[in-house]
Amino acid sequence: MQPIHHIFSQLESPRRVIITTHQKPDPDAMGSSLGLYHFLTRLGHEVNVISPTNWASFLDWMPGADRVLNYEITREKSAALINAADWIFCLDFNTLIRTKHLAPVVEKSPAIKILIDHHQQPAIESFHYGVSDTTKSSTCEMVYDFIMESGHGHSISMEIAECLYAGLIGDTGSFRYPAASADVHRMVARLKETGLRHTQIHENIYDNFLENRLRFIGHVLTNRMEVFYEYNTALIFVPKSDLLRFDIKTGDTEGLVNYPLSIQGIRMAAIVIDRDEERKWSFRSKGNVDVNTFARLYFEGGGHFNAAGGRSSASLEDTLRTFKKVLKETASDFQLT
Ligand code: 5GP
Ligand code: MN
Repeated sequence: MQPIHHIFSQLESPRRVIITTHQKPDPDAMGSSLGLYHFLTRLGHEVNVISPTNWASFLDWMPGADRVLNYEITREKSAALINAADWIFCLDFNTLIRTKHLAPVVEKSPAIKILIDHHQQPAIESFHYGVSDTTKSSTCEMVYDFIMESGHGHSISMEIAECLYAGLIGDTGSFRYPAASADVHRMVARLKETGLRHTQIHENIYDNFLENRLRFIGHVLTNRMEVFYEYNTALIFVPKSDLLRFDIKTGDTEGLVNYPLSIQGIRMAAIVIDRDEERKWSFRSKGNVDVNTFARLYFEGGGHFNAAGGRSSASLEDTLRTFKKVLKETASDFQLT
């Protein structure tokens, strides 16, 4: 993988560009994709954003979201665009598997593949150019750096700012995590200069749910949470029946894993959701508890040091049993005792 600045000189000549990101895109994935979309479109490129799957409705306000193709319902059209592309930008994921059914299509395309990502242990052999930096708060910060370093800082519009700000607040927990550096705050100052209404963005993302989601959270925290004080860990499990009972949609479970971390002394929180095709895990931690390694070793996943995800094809009961066994056996290795 060559350094991304090698493509700067080619930005002036129009290309057919695809931007893609990880399945079930979150604010950083969608915000970085659409921020880059608006930037490259302004430069005269022909750009399409393709998401491997659907996304949470709290992202629909983002400028350009109505033009994003969902691969699961536009397979032929999206595959044709990917095959005809000159460049494919891959944002906010470290391995192509994270694009689900899109992975083989992207892999086979003759296009030049460009990575912009901040996850640990990227599969750099899959990309021709790119930048991977785990010290960056978000992929949105990296898209901002890309725009600034390519000499086009003047083209940061309010719509670009809105998209990038969404990813910043998503991945920094509204500027509370350690990755919210001085550079991040300087970036926010620059985005504000475009006229960005930051309060509105917070409301669009965090105050835009239906009543059923809050009822669901109450139910889950009361009935589906186990706290293992001896291992400073808490676990939430969500059976399929709960998802049906409360009519839970994509995005409604986002952020749930953070609640147990607010319990005094808890340093790792895990949630597992019984989805149709798999049991989807999310892990969050505080301080020196490395959930990237935990997810990688035991739940086919990965991510960041303090925030990672994973999966299991076993039943909910079996994957919960595995979690408790692994927790007991490895708690001291993961600084949980
Ligand atoms: P979340 O728990 O919000 O789904 O994900 C937390 C972080 O880990 C995000 O940065 C996400 O992109 C990453 N992540 C989630 N699931 C997986 C996975 O299965 N594999 C890898 N490598 N990263 C994941
Ligand atoms: Mn991210």
